[in-house]
Amino acid sequence: MNLTIISGIEVSKKIKEEIAAQVKLNIAKGMKTPHLAAVLVGDDGASKTYVNAKVKACEAVGFKSTLVKLDENTTEEKLLEEIKKLNNDTDLDGFIVQLPLPKHINEQKVTQAISPLKDVDGFHPESLGKMLLDLPSFLPATPMGIIEMLKHYNIPTEGKHCVVIGRSHIVGSPMSVLMARNSYPGNCTVTLTHSRTKNLQEITLQADILIVAIGKPEFVTANMVKDGATVIDVGIHRIEDATKKNGFRLIGDVKFDEVAPKCAFISPVPGGVGPMTIASLLKNTLLASIHK
Ligand code: NAD
Repeated sequence: MNLTIISGIEVSKKIKEEIAAQVKLNIAKGMKTPHLAAVLVGDDGASKTYVNAKVKACEAVGFKSTLVKLDENTTEEKLLEEIKKLNNDTDLDGFIVQLPLPKHINEQKVTQAISPLKDVDGFHPESLGKMLLDLPSFLPATPMGIIEMLKHYNIPTEGKHCVVIGRSHIVGSPMSVLMARNSYPGNCTVTLTHSRTKNLQEITLQADILIVAIGKPEFVTANMVKDGATVIDVGIHRIEDATKKNGFRLIGDVKFDEVAPKCAFISPVPGGVGPMTIASLLKNTLLASIHK
């Protein structure tokens, strides 16, 4: 089996270069500099890393960025007030509220408070509804990044069986919708599996394309994967590793070393879906700034 390791780093670099060129062109034409804000509530290490990476990516493509840091004990009311301010800030094109939020804050309420015009993470009910109806909208950043990956590598999808593991609102569920759409990448027969699915292995063994967003380290093993499959690993887990400078290394939801030899295509962790999520966020922000 000829194996291709999908490089989210390479694909996202290409997308970011295209965005940077477009920004330069737009500014030369007198258009505004795209501006993205990220709201971070609390002190979670992983969330801080993700938000910092997003802010850094903005700088790299010539966007303006703002980081709004709020204390772990911030009330839901205070956060909703902050969102209102961001909704009304005329210079700001889009913003995200980094999830997960502290337990005392209702994520649904927060997601719904974000103006659909600035919803560059694509989590608002209006964005998700439009996606379902094939109307132009901000697609959720991670599924959108996976779609871009499949496109970049010309991975055939039409008539294929795509199995998605996990039904979260931000990854699994929208992913299943996008893979079933009447377009490329899409036109798959999709099976969405979740915590109540019976005989998961029987189902994953039928997958031509297996998209894993279960949030359990190295859950998918070689005996769950068909020969020649495409495997996309969405999971990110920090595992303590004393040999690393920062004390940890990243692994995914897929046991990469044993699964990869069976695959036609596989996305690694790190360097797979993660950078694509950021590239999609930038793409959505550029769109938001143009269609203001
Ligand atoms: P989540 O934790 O919200 O949901 C996990 C899903 O897995 C649930 O829908 C659940 O029903 C399902 N599940 C649990 N046990 C199962 C089982 N035994 N069989 C089948 N399904 C089962 O997940 P999420 O927010 O989609 O995140 C998944 C992973 O992806 C996490 O590791 C997260 O950190 C990572 N993630 C990465 C990115 C990125 O940019 N790379 C973005 C978002 C999430």
